[in-house]
Amino acid sequence: MSITCKFGGTSLATSVNVRAACEIVRADEKRRLVVVSAPGKKNSDGKKVTDLLHACHAGRFDETLFNACFSMIADTFREIATIAPSFPIEEELDLIRSQIKFSESNIDFVASRGEYLNAKLIAAYLGYEFLDASKFIRFQDGELDLARTLSLAKTLDQTKRYVIPGFYGMDEKGHIKTFSRGGSDVTGAIVARAFGCELYENWTDVDGIRVSDPRIVENSKKVEQVSFRELREMSYMGASVLHAETLLPLYEAPIPIVLKNSFRPELGGTRILKKRTEKSRGETITCITGKSDYTCIQISKAMLDKQLGFVKKATAVFEEYHINISHTHSGLDNLCFFVERSEYKSISFGEFVKELSSRIDADKIKAHEKIALLAVIGHDLSGRVGILAKIFNTLHSEGISVKTVYQSISECNIIIGVEEEKLTQCVKALYRELIEEG
Ligand code: ASP
Repeated sequence: MSITCKFGGTSLATSVNVRAACEIVRADEKRRLVVVSAPGKKNSDGKKVTDLLHACHAGRFDETLFNACFSMIADTFREIATIAPSFPIEEELDLIRSQIKFSESNIDFVASRGEYLNAKLIAAYLGYEFLDASKFIRFQDGELDLARTLSLAKTLDQTKRYVIPGFYGMDEKGHIKTFSRGGSDVTGAIVARAFGCELYENWTDVDGIRVSDPRIVENSKKVEQVSFRELREMSYMGASVLHAETLLPLYEAPIPIVLKNSFRPELGGTRILKKRTEKSRGETITCITGKSDYTCIQISKAMLDKQLGFVKKATAVFEEYHINISHTHSGLDNLCFFVERSEYKSISFGEFVKELSSRIDADKIKAHEKIALLAVIGHDLSGRVGILAKIFNTLHSEGISVKTVYQSISECNIIIGVEEEKLTQCVKALYRELIEEG
């Protein structure tokens, strides 16, 4: 069996980092499939190669701007190429430069060149074969076509060792198409599935998943294991762990993921499994997080509970205005829809409310803005008596007024609406009570 290991941009930002990543690959024979991001930031003021490629594309008609951006890209790759002296780095850079500047290249093609060149270089250094992702990763109507991708992968020699660029594939017209930003995570998952791997290792610059964002809770506890479901909930509620589409190719197999730090490979990392193992069942709460910028659209109508089809009529208007609903709550005479503010940024909100009100004949529609949804995510929350009581006692003693509460039937998450400016205070207080005092 084999392992796919994907390295993020920070893990590949300099020749020293690339060498360290390749040491990791060489340390285990099973690491036959290596997926790479474009070089990331070298330091906090640095720039990601992908961002620079975007800037090059935007400035392709402005010689000075273009040259300034491209020379930063070229310098990054020249420095990395010192690990593989026979690699024709200047030729490769000249080609990419002219492709961006003079061809009709689309932005996806341009943005993909960071991964492309990094993979070629690292393949040369490792002595692995370079396999272009556009050979087998297919998009259809802008979305990953997993079935076609898997069947094309079957035609490849599955016994070889490959370095594969992350982030992109090819669309139905034969053009390069990228995933959204951070999409090399998805490539890693596709490769793990397509090559029947036992494990997908995702190497970055963090030790694994933390219960809370370390920028809010310093030294927040690392989680040993999470289930696929918990990870989905975490990402949905704003914890940035992996690209949102990463799990899709892994569900069926199912292939576990391990998140590890390429700067501290001796640490265990976090395992993400379809189902947690018995050993980790004690770890009840895996995430305390939250997301601001929600608006709650409250619809009031007397005897709402007796109105057949009312919800359908209301949601049809959201659909027409392309407003995605994140959560709904309903009561006897009230119906609440939670939407992210960004969902209605480009339309006239007033016009939408007017239309909604005329179509559903509501008594009143009120928009409550600046709401944050606080989330406690975990495993078997129902198995822990009094967890809700503890949460509310904590919020009460912090003087927080709770706007809304939701606990999923599967008890994987508890979601609480609070005022936006209180979110950080809530996360800190709940971490202290539920994790530290436990
Ligand atoms: N290089 C791309 C980005 O910065 C894709 C990735 O690293 O996953 O978003």
